[in-house]
Amino acid sequence: MGQPPAVTVLNIVIPCYNEEAVLPETARRLAALLDSLIEAGTIAPTSGVYFIDDGSRDRTWSLIAGLHTARPDRFHGLKLSRNRGHQNALLAGLRNTPGDALISIDADLQDDLAAIPAMLARFAEGCDIVYGVRAARDTDTPFKRRTAHLYYALLRRLGVEVVPDHADFRLMSRRALNALARYGEVNLFIRAIVPLLGFRTAQVTYRRAPRFAGTTKYTLARMIGLAVDGITSFSMRPLRLITAIGLITAGLSFLVGLWAIWLALFTTRAIPGWTSIVAPLAFVGGLQLLSMGVIGEYIGKIYLEVKRRPLFEIEEIL
Ligand code: UDP
Ligand code: MG
Repeated sequence: MGQPPAVTVLNIVIPCYNEEAVLPETARRLAALLDSLIEAGTIAPTSGVYFIDDGSRDRTWSLIAGLHTARPDRFHGLKLSRNRGHQNALLAGLRNTPGDALISIDADLQDDLAAIPAMLARFAEGCDIVYGVRAARDTDTPFKRRTAHLYYALLRRLGVEVVPDHADFRLMSRRALNALARYGEVNLFIRAIVPLLGFRTAQVTYRRAPRFAGTTKYTLARMIGLAVDGITSFSMRPLRLITAIGLITAGLSFLVGLWAIWLALFTTRAIPGWTSIVAPLAFVGGLQLLSMGVIGEYIGKIYLEVKRRPLFEIEEIL
């Protein structure tokens, strides 16, 4: 156990949504890479590429079918019944592709194929997960770069473990994929689940290129959706925050209430009727926030329970 097999069957998993503009070139580059790795004896001759068509409305699926007809040993396709989004398409690929190791990469090959031999070397050394990490964000707009870094900082604050500057370009061993299959959650943010799996991991840095053809399939709305999923699927801290604010507010309101009563009883400064409004108002406001926090604690527990995440993963047995 623990030792990778002598010759690895490597399959590359690619979610594709309306990617007719890039597919032929992507397939050409991947075939060249796989052929050279097979030639060198690094991977098994049965290694190949699995395209996951995420309900494309253009010629993507017919292009995939054409590739499969031309080289049935190298190119495979899997068609989803409709568009379900990048993370779901990726999971469909990771769950349904055979092989000793899978590498997930985007159809536009913005992630550098040259990092793949380095990933395989780490895998041969016994790593189950190898993250592709961007060395620099120079191909991003300043806006995307800044928001990305703020987002990573926020995730870390909230206790969500992610590898900074890593998206979904990674190698996973069969063992790691079996562990991933035990996560049944439906609000997917795969890159935050993978670090939860454990095992020996490594990072390989690469430079991310601009898209060579076609346009981005990630609209701002989809990006925000993914970002929100990253927080709400992994952290209970926003709920905890309500409890904390509730406690502080309740404490302060109690003091304000006491002060209002004191003004009414011992001074002549209180306008008649003022205390009977201000004291309950402050008190009830604090009480409400505190109660919401308590309810939030229970909702948080329900949320953790319904995910049914595995509690552990056995790595080796002697
Ligand atoms: N993608 C997908 N389903 C979608 C949107 C995107 O499978 O609904 C795929 C897309 O084809 C590509 C990958 O997800 O392979 C990343 O998308 P893109 O390159 O457009 O995102 P960006 O690099 O601009 O963030
Ligand atoms: Mg891209």
